[in-house]
Amino acid sequence: MQITFLGTGTSAGVPVIRCRCPVCTSPDRRNRRWRSSLYVEAGGQHLVIDTSTDFREQALAFNVPRVDAVLITHAHADHVFGLDDMRRYNVLQDAIIPVYAAAPTVADLRRIFNYVTTAANPAGLWRPRLEFQIRDAAFEIGSVRVTPLPVKHGHTPTLGFRLDSGGQSLGYVPDCHEMPPATEAAFRGVDTMILDTLRVRAHPTHLALADSVALLGRLGAARSFLTHIGHELDHAAAESALPPGIRAAYDGLTVNW
Ligand SMILES: [Zn+2]
Ligand SMILES: [Zn+2]
Ligand SMILES: [Zn+2]
Repeated sequence: MQITFLGTGTSAGVPVIRCRCPVCTSPDRRNRRWRSSLYVEAGGQHLVIDTSTDFREQALAFNVPRVDAVLITHAHADHVFGLDDMRRYNVLQDAIIPVYAAAPTVADLRRIFNYVTTAANPAGLWRPRLEFQIRDAAFEIGSVRVTPLPVKHGHTPTLGFRLDSGGQSLGYVPDCHEMPPATEAAFRGVDTMILDTLRVRAHPTHLALADSVALLGRLGAARSFLTHIGHELDHAAAESALPPGIRAAYDGLTVNW
């Protein structure tokens, strides 16, 4: 399994517009964070988890070659506003792309992207050709087993995803302030775990650093990464204070196992 972090930032991105704080003005490229999204290659499938507001720049910067399916955690703008850019992959692949999400998220996607179609485009039109599919239990994309797992993220219905392929496993939870026990049990022991870590101070809808690190410790992945990071966390400073096995992700980071 190979993953590339297309974006590791919170909803505002980092730098924040017009902010002059040390992180937003840092020369360290790892402190420049596009909105959170993950590219996964597993079992011959090319998957994108969340099509962020920055998807076009991310696809150009990190050379996303194809997209066989999209998984959406929830319908907040930072996770879905790049969905329109799938139309380029429709053309490249000459295929409809399936988009998998929970029922309330699919309802939001149908409302926001009400011009999406599964029909062929008439000449001159270039609409995204997507098939929204509701998934609330484990399913397969090719040989990849995908398990949608509910997490708490304010009042917004939100999923994390566990992916299993060829004996390898991944957990991805970019937005979460609390993980229900059944979800925690389902992620326990994955090879690679990626978890929301907004900042040091508590936040009503996101995990703060100490809680995220404690949860990652309980999940016990071989390697863990923080994502959905705000401008209060400097990459180098955060990483130097993390326990072994836990790293702060950054845009463009690729991990293979
Ligand atoms: Zn978010
Ligand atoms: Zn700032
Ligand atoms: Zn969110």
